[in-house]
Amino acid sequence: MSRIAYVNGRYVPLQDAAVHVEDRGYQFADGVYEVIALRGNRLVDAQGHYDRLWRSMGELQIEPPMTEAAMKLVVDQLIRRNRLPDALIYMQVTRGVAARDFKFPKSTNPGRESALVITVRPAKLDHTAQLRDGVKVVTTPDQRWKRRDIKSVALLPQVLAKQKAAEAGAFEAWMVDDDGFITEGSSSNAWILTRDKKLVTRQATNMILKGVTRTSLLRFAEEQGIAIEERAFTPEEAYEAVEAFVSSATTFLLPIVEIDGHVIGNGKPGSFGEKLRAAYMAYADGERGDDTRWVA
Ligand code: PMP
Repeated sequence: MSRIAYVNGRYVPLQDAAVHVEDRGYQFADGVYEVIALRGNRLVDAQGHYDRLWRSMGELQIEPPMTEAAMKLVVDQLIRRNRLPDALIYMQVTRGVAARDFKFPKSTNPGRESALVITVRPAKLDHTAQLRDGVKVVTTPDQRWKRRDIKSVALLPQVLAKQKAAEAGAFEAWMVDDDGFITEGSSSNAWILTRDKKLVTRQATNMILKGVTRTSLLRFAEEQGIAIEERAFTPEEAYEAVEAFVSSATTFLLPIVEIDGHVIGNGKPGSFGEKLRAAYMAYADGERGDDTRWVA
């Protein structure tokens, strides 16, 4: 069965899904996006992703192409048409098509010029091998701009970071700022559990993307009574951690067993991360009714 995408008002087979060469997303990376996991036909943490998409558009003065309610209907329609129980839903909004010129095009019809593409792709979301064995991480300089809080489609530094990780046989690259502190992963947030059992993840400022998964995990960690420190940490501190994790919409939470060749803990996924992931998966399974709001 062919996959169906949504492109500017139309449902089209993926192989025919295309945007104009003068789309500003293509020309200037002038656009924002979100990724939502669909697991067992249930969207995971969806409201948080919509909240952040609207905030990203707002920060860049991109007019929403439709209301949030309408976008949810399009996503529902795509889920129905693609019939994939486990998938990743990518939604991308750009400032639309205009003759090439850096400054914003004059809007005559606000919202109608913005371009919206939504795709659904199959995904394996049980992460069996990574949960059993853990994953490896390498560090690399953070080469990004200073508005990392906006989920922009300008991802070249992350592309290069992830490529470096892949070449090193690692799952993820943790990016390090000019002061020597880890910001986050190329497509995930970074966490450690210190020897004195404090859960540490970088504070959400313009220096990182405030993960939707991160927001929910912090809530569940708090419920579990763990001490939380939202602060920056160095690779050296991470090497000494008893546990470390990545979190994102596509991984939920995965245990790290090696950073830059340093073995974390006893080299096996730890029990704290397992418990925190279990809390998140219960939430993803709808075992708790509340959908976390994401607040910038
Ligand atoms: N940081 C970056 C740079 C990311 O690309 C992602 C993935 N969207 C995250 C963090 C994790 O965010 P979320 O939990 O909302 O997927």
